[in-house]
Amino acid sequence: HSDAQEAENSLHELAALAETAGAEVLDGMLQRRPNPDPATYIGSGKAQELREIVAETGADTVVADSELAPSQRRALEDVVKVKVIDRTAVILDIFSQHATSREGKAQVELAQLEYLLPRLRGWGESMSRQAGGQVGGQGAGMGSRGPGETKIELDRRRINTRMAKLRKQIASFAPARAAKRANRDRHEVPSVAIAGYTNAGKSSLLNRVTKAGVLVENALFATLDPTVRRTETPDGRLYTLSDTVGFVRNLPHQLVEAFRSTLEEVADSDVIVHVVDASHEDPSTQLATVRDVIGEVGARDITEIVVFNKADLVDDDERLLLRGLVPNAVFVSARTGEGIETLMDRIADAIPRPDVTLDLLIP
Ligand code: GDP
Repeated sequence: HSDAQEAENSLHELAALAETAGAEVLDGMLQRRPNPDPATYIGSGKAQELREIVAETGADTVVADSELAPSQRRALEDVVKVKVIDRTAVILDIFSQHATSREGKAQVELAQLEYLLPRLRGWGESMSRQAGGQVGGQGAGMGSRGPGETKIELDRRRINTRMAKLRKQIASFAPARAAKRANRDRHEVPSVAIAGYTNAGKSSLLNRVTKAGVLVENALFATLDPTVRRTETPDGRLYTLSDTVGFVRNLPHQLVEAFRSTLEEVADSDVIVHVVDASHEDPSTQLATVRDVIGEVGARDITEIVVFNKADLVDDDERLLLRGLVPNAVFVSARTGEGIETLMDRIADAIPRPDVTLDLLIP
């Protein structure tokens, strides 16, 4: 596959990431040039074009797929007149939404500070004006959730102190984590985690399944974590279905630890629904990568249901190939609804049934 195709794929993934982070994606722009422009990265002509797109669409943020130098980011902001962030900032934003455990939160904050440190002077006023939360605060726009907005008060030394403290905390969590794994509590309500690459269709599938089943309303539950839903099997057993943090191609290496700790929620689930984009150019590599990491976070023994989503986009020959890859996979389309009932039956079979006690058997 050509570089142009690769850039196009990467841009699609970036759009999916931005949507996961809560943004509405209005437009995209690709540029080919042998070397980045030292001033604005994309060059002044393209920057003007971008400014027009921003003005026409009313966008309030530009997301760059590449890592910009602080000076390039500022120069670009001066031209386009809105906030400019990069891919890493979007990913960090998603991680902070998914981090639920104390360790996960600490790992994500550490990654945010590592990201922030070399950019301290680069963060423009537009950022601090918009945000105004405390460290780790929520509520600001995409890319500004987290410690970014407090840069004015926090000098480098204090950030370094905080990072040292977080590293110590994280090291102290490790033994507790192992113990927790060893005697994993059976959940009162079985939990099903949806894992897979960003853009595989995890959240579309979550919506499909919970819409097809009975969505059990629970306001408190809903506000606690928007990525978790309660639903029922066809025979009326409750379970939770959660969308886990998506895998990303070419994850920046400084985010690997934060990603793993955020993904650890899958190690706590009873069943993993592993969603693969059937129309992807290389599903077998994606499948293997996800399985490797699932193993590494301690979820190797959890029942896995492999789902080839976007079945509406593949022909019979391709299905045959995928079937060869995972013989008992379920083919579904979150778009057309194909296979959703089969998937729900498979989930129903896989989740643990309540223990039947003797007094039920002997009257
Ligand atoms: P996530 O990042 O894994 O949560 O993926 P999304 O659910 O956001 O879906 C990513 C993109 O794939 C969106 O543009 C969806 O509309 C599209 N999509 C999801 N499921 C299907 C499907 O079954 N068929 C087709 N053709 N597109 C789908």
